[in-house]
Amino acid sequence: MTAYSEVITRLISALESLPGIGPKSAERIIFHILKTDEAYACALADAIVEVKKKIFFCEICFNLSEKNICHICSNPSRNHEIICVVEEPKDVIAIEKAGGYNGVYHVLLGALSAINGIGPSKLKIEELFERIHSGAIEEVILATNPNADGDATALYLSQLLAKEAIKISRISRGVPLGSSFEYLDQATIACALRDRQPIHLIQ
Ligand SMILES: [Zn+2]
Repeated sequence: MTAYSEVITRLISALESLPGIGPKSAERIIFHILKTDEAYACALADAIVEVKKKIFFCEICFNLSEKNICHICSNPSRNHEIICVVEEPKDVIAIEKAGGYNGVYHVLLGALSAINGIGPSKLKIEELFERIHSGAIEEVILATNPNADGDATALYLSQLLAKEAIKISRISRGVPLGSSFEYLDQATIACALRDRQPIHLIQ
């Protein structure tokens, strides 16, 4: 039974539902907010509401965007025949920062995960195939994270993609196993994309 008031308990349970926040962190955040002035709390709340109102997922690639179509999908100087498949919008940012990639993206909004109960229907996989079937796509680069879930997702996609008449490649193994893009330096990301390996499935 908690000793906190109803107001605090409500905020604790709201914060606890955020990824990576446990009960202890939720308490620390609340005491931090209580110690700051009201303007800080209002600015924080406003920023949360504003991001929810103004930022959308791009209708084509599911990257974050302030418009229906993101700045990458709407850029005619990008190569729209190459799609780099990533897990999250933050992976797009990491690859863009690394530089050297001029194709477009497809953000799955997650990775397959048996432990977390994430199956193919929870990811933007159908939408990826709609893109492949509706446009002139030459190559799909599987740039899901080089960890267990990312590899499982890449394997699943490569088996489906084998039925399509396109080139399939996977980011090179220069990327440390078990890692994710957000922890890699820009040079490693750029090399992993440049040295991507074609996938040849044994039928
Ligand atoms: Zn887009």
